[in-house]
Amino acid sequence: MNAARQFRHAARAAAQDAEIAGILRFNIATYDAAVALGRGRFLDWREARRRAEAIKRDAIAQLDRYLEEFERRIIARGAAVHWAPDAAAAREIILEIARRHNVRRVVKSKSMVSEEIHLREALEQAGMATLETDLGEYIVQLRNEPPYHIVTPAMHLRREHIAGLFHQKLGTPADETSPEALVRAARREMRQRFVAADLGITGANFLIADHGLVAITENEGNARLCASLPPVQVVLTGIEKLLPRLADLALFWPLLATAGTGQPITCYNSLLGGPRRGGEPDGPRELHIVLLDNGRSRVLADAAQRELLHCIRCGACLNACPVFQTIGGHAYATTYPGPIGAALTPLLRGPAYDHLAYATSLCGACAEACPVGIEIHHQLLRDRAQAAAARRRPWSERLEIRALAWAAAKPRRFERAGRLARRLLRLRPQAIDGTRLDPLRPWTRYRQAPEPPPQSFRAWWRQRNSPPAPNSMAAEPPS
Ligand code: SF4
Repeated sequence: MNAARQFRHAARAAAQDAEIAGILRFNIATYDAAVALGRGRFLDWREARRRAEAIKRDAIAQLDRYLEEFERRIIARGAAVHWAPDAAAAREIILEIARRHNVRRVVKSKSMVSEEIHLREALEQAGMATLETDLGEYIVQLRNEPPYHIVTPAMHLRREHIAGLFHQKLGTPADETSPEALVRAARREMRQRFVAADLGITGANFLIADHGLVAITENEGNARLCASLPPVQVVLTGIEKLLPRLADLALFWPLLATAGTGQPITCYNSLLGGPRRGGEPDGPRELHIVLLDNGRSRVLADAAQRELLHCIRCGACLNACPVFQTIGGHAYATTYPGPIGAALTPLLRGPAYDHLAYATSLCGACAEACPVGIEIHHQLLRDRAQAAAARRRPWSERLEIRALAWAAAKPRRFERAGRLARRLLRLRPQAIDGTRLDPLRPWTRYRQAPEPPPQSFRAWWRQRNSPPAPNSMAAEPPS
């Protein structure tokens, strides 16, 4: 089944799942309330967005210069930097580092880029036991499914689902559903794995050009452990994560926390500047930074699409999107779901994902929610135009367009065609409304077909402006 058809099936099934709908409604309402409060903590949220947008615009416009600056500075402190043109190259670089160190056990923190390149699967295939240490990621790993949302991977689950899963996989008591006890059980499992790990893998929220630093922001402290306990650490990140200056974090850390979860600032904020130095008690002996392109340079090369690289992966556009609210995250079958995923995936993974340009109501709620002001709905509209231009239309559609063009070429002809269409519409039996026999099915499947008006607008206008016949009533406009 191709990706478009698969998406249609999955979206239809997800939209009919009342339980998931209830969970999403509850979680998104909780999120909305927290974000409203969080935005109120800014003196001027709109001005903060404008500044963030300007900083990202500059960072992406001069990406080559900032990347080189970042690379030079972090290498000077002993880190190794690897450039990966695509997912296969990134996997190979990381596997090679792991093999060189005889790695058997890996701990990793949450990273959507690692999902993008299917890193965990590659490590496990190479015989390295790999543990997701973010609680949400750990839960979806136990369920053997991808993250549901880019910030909250287990957003589709209730506490009872997690309790059942932990009972089955970790042996917790069947009636144990308290969040504290469930977190304790997960922590117990992870603790030994942290201590025994040979390799730690993290992502990066930002790369700081002027100091050569990796900025990581998280709520559980697990990324910090992945970056400090194992002897070797890999930071896997997309090339677009650059910020020009360390001072920019004063805006971006609270902005990301507010848009992501409504928090004033995330609980743990770390800056990594290189491997352990002499006399330091902890930290990796080797630090490798893998900078992934995987289609990002193509996006960068197109001025109309470039602003998609401003994304800081806060997830706000997903929560605001009526399509995501209806079908959830798994139906997209992409690494990045929701509006940003719909815009980015066809660019990163090719035209097989062009159908995602239609997974939007074009209402603009995503752009309104975005803390860096990306006009995602405009991007999606452009994608639709491109997808439509590239698509070979079915013969019925081509015939329809020709007939319409022929009729519209002359006003009289158009009027006559309209009269005929209204007559045919009136003859259409109501009983076939929305059924397979209905020629208007694409429309009537989801909506009611309007009653055809008794006359055309032109005829109504003529009638309205002709001198009134004695005792005639005023004509009503056609509906
Ligand atoms: S597009 Fe904007 S709202 Fe969506 S994840 Fe990226 S930064 Fe957040």
